[in-house]
Amino acid sequence: MRAELAPRVKKLKQQGVTPGLSVVLVGENPASQVYVRMKGRACEEAGMRSDTITMPAETTEAELASVIERLNGDDAVHGILVQLPLPDQINDQGVLHSIRPDKDVDGFHPENVGKVSTGDPTGFRPATPYGVQQMLIRSGVDPAGQHVVIVGRSNIVGRPMASLLLHKGEGGNATVTVCHSRTRDLPTITRQADILIAAIGQPEFVKGDWIRPGAVVIDVGVNRVSDPTTKKGYRLVGDVDFEAARQVASAITPVPGGVGPMTITMLLYNTVQAARQWAG
Ligand code: NDP
Repeated sequence: MRAELAPRVKKLKQQGVTPGLSVVLVGENPASQVYVRMKGRACEEAGMRSDTITMPAETTEAELASVIERLNGDDAVHGILVQLPLPDQINDQGVLHSIRPDKDVDGFHPENVGKVSTGDPTGFRPATPYGVQQMLIRSGVDPAGQHVVIVGRSNIVGRPMASLLLHKGEGGNATVTVCHSRTRDLPTITRQADILIAAIGQPEFVKGDWIRPGAVVIDVGVNRVSDPTTKKGYRLVGDVDFEAARQVASAITPVPGGVGPMTITMLLYNTVQAARQWAG
């Protein structure tokens, strides 16, 4: 999919528009630093412009707002992304609402949330669920008519995932069940899934016997667990017990890999979409 993007970027450049993404990173969260570096590198590899604005952990909401205001008004910036989580003194929602909706390539502004949930293609689809949907389509797993069970109801993953899979159209038309921490008897529900999507944030939470034989499993979770045998002292695992799940599932995404790289790919697609809409 990244290779498919190259001719689109080239065409825009020939029209004098180089798609540009600005990423704002506040504080020194090590995982966020890694994600931001990966996003910047992927942009450059795709021939796009990217810059990262790093701000100290003590940054105030007003200081961050003034950076966003500048980026909102900068014609070379087509996409703005504020890396989450933000430090406690900053209100996430206020910040996400202050990004111009036509530059909000993360798709978290209420205008884009509304557009995406009503099927307006000019809205930006949040990159993680968008990537999951594309991965299903590209792997020949058509969600139409299938029972998809999503575990997790966050605004970043679970909810927009449900919305995309409910759409009438390609990659949609699924029957969707969304579960969360108050769901009673979760394994009984996950066992009914043709496609199971885990976005919980708990290491290896979904067990092998929670999965119907032959189901497709998408693991969104990225969790650090301590592992003294590795150089870093930790390793990454998903929300699904991969070794057990792979015995029963017909297909499963790995962690790391799988959803993570797809998320970055869809961020690039959204930035190109923003640049195209900007260019008219
Ligand atoms: P949140 O913490 O915002 O949401 C987690 C969801 O899981 C909540 O809805 C919560 O329920 C539910 N949940 C938590 N514990 C349980 C439980 N015991 N039983 C059932 N449901 C439970 O996380 P995110 O959605 O932001 O992220 C989820 C995971 O995906 C994380 O591991 C994160 O790192 C990863 N992630 C990966 C990305 C990628 O690019 N690969 C991108 C974004 C996230 P409730 O609402 O009731 O609290």
